[in-house]
Amino acid sequence: MPIDAKLLERAYQSGTLEGLPDGHFIDGRFQPAQAGGRMESFDPGRAEPFATFAAGDAADVDQAVASARGAFEDVWRDTAPEARGRVLMRTAELIRANVSRLAVAETLDSGKPVGEAQGDVLGAARTFEYYAGACDKLQGDTFPLGPDHLGYSFNEPVGVTAHIIPWNFPISTTARGIAPALAAGCTAVVKPAEQTPFTALMLAELLSEAGLPPGACNVVTGTGQDVGAPLVAHADVDHVTFTGSVATGTGVMKAVADNVTSLVLELGGKSPVVVLSDCDREAALDGVMGAIFENAGQICSAGSRLVIERAIHDDFVDTLCQRTGALSIGHGLRDPQLGPVNSDRQLETVSGFVDRGRERGATVLTGGAATTDPQTGKGWFYEPTIIADRPVDDELVQEEIFGPVLTIQIAEDAEDAVRLANATRYALVAGVYTRDFEAAHQLARRIDAGQVYINEYFAGGIAVPFGGNRMSGFGREKGLEGIRSYCRTKSVAARIAR
Ligand code: ADP
Repeated sequence: MPIDAKLLERAYQSGTLEGLPDGHFIDGRFQPAQAGGRMESFDPGRAEPFATFAAGDAADVDQAVASARGAFEDVWRDTAPEARGRVLMRTAELIRANVSRLAVAETLDSGKPVGEAQGDVLGAARTFEYYAGACDKLQGDTFPLGPDHLGYSFNEPVGVTAHIIPWNFPISTTARGIAPALAAGCTAVVKPAEQTPFTALMLAELLSEAGLPPGACNVVTGTGQDVGAPLVAHADVDHVTFTGSVATGTGVMKAVADNVTSLVLELGGKSPVVVLSDCDREAALDGVMGAIFENAGQICSAGSRLVIERAIHDDFVDTLCQRTGALSIGHGLRDPQLGPVNSDRQLETVSGFVDRGRERGATVLTGGAATTDPQTGKGWFYEPTIIADRPVDDELVQEEIFGPVLTIQIAEDAEDAVRLANATRYALVAGVYTRDFEAAHQLARRIDAGQVYINEYFAGGIAVPFGGNRMSGFGREKGLEGIRSYCRTKSVAARIAR
């Protein structure tokens, strides 16, 4: 499905998109922040504001949660599962019908190349389709209690759910949270990142158009402090799904404790891509580059460490550096191979990691500097960067950079690769490239990660559960497992004979 070329060009020339949503989406309609607050959203490709949006506070959160509570109790939890499924399916169709507008909005807000944004939007449609089909399959169980009793269980929706969304995958993360929540019969309040508020608002409007009752999906925009914090601590929120940084996530964990609110945390990663000497070289080169340069490395599951067997290191890394140096850089609406990073703060963070690494003696094989769009001289860009082999305790190996920076670790053999792969506090995903079937599955078992990709990084899709271990968080999203957070089991045991 090609992007509407005229819309794309108009957005590029004007620097914005006409008809962006204005206001929070609460109770089925757009409305201003009660206190009248506004914020600017920046186009990272030009480092300039391109639109404004409502900056909410606790009063707006209260209103949205009350609206979600009403919609839950009065309508949505008792809506027939097949009717819920139809709304989600229509939403998927509407997302597809609006792919160009959604992708352009996502690119202006986040900076990512519009081809990637289009993939995210279509992925969001696929997410709604997937969970549309799940609505009427949330079966319970029966328990063998003997002839005098009957025991059974069913899945109840947990209630009002809060979704805290990061800026790197705005529409994807919103969809993967609210589609299963709505499928289960829950209602939702979404807090998009303040850097990227628009596609969540557009999605909420499409859900309404698809027939979702007012209040079943609300979006409140604003900062983490003013909107996120009161939302996760709200006594009438039954479940929180948080995707973001470790520092904010651990704060959210503390905040939900007072109300004993259930929580899924999807935090950071420092994921290894293990490349063994018998790999398919071309597949591994493509995989390693996609793993770290897609979305300019701003992916919690980015493959930010190349763990490579010594035997093929020199030749593989030479080619990798040549191809990396040749990547096109530019404004996301020009669909380059590498777009900007999301903010000046992020650019500083990425630069800081590389500059400190240099001071410790790290060798930068390619890249290693902040830059701008070669056409306009504007924007928050960082060159695609590869750092030569670092010791395991180095910051460049241990810490999530969240930018286009790949650190190499040399492994002596597959055994050593497992040791290196597991040597950080994160355990989100891992990639493995080898033609040896047994070695691949041995590594998949022994590497600590929520998800392991073999011979294709980011393989899978909505059907495959996703989430981390250790400091990468807990709970799983996506797949049928992803719907469990939004259901709770009610068991019934009855005496039926005396
Ligand atoms: P980053 O530091 O890269 O912005 P965060 O983890 O802080 O990443 O942001 C992820 C999401 O969490 C954003 O929507 C942000 O507004 C939100 N957020 C930030 N602080 C809080 C908080 N104290 N409580 C709830 N949400 C928050």
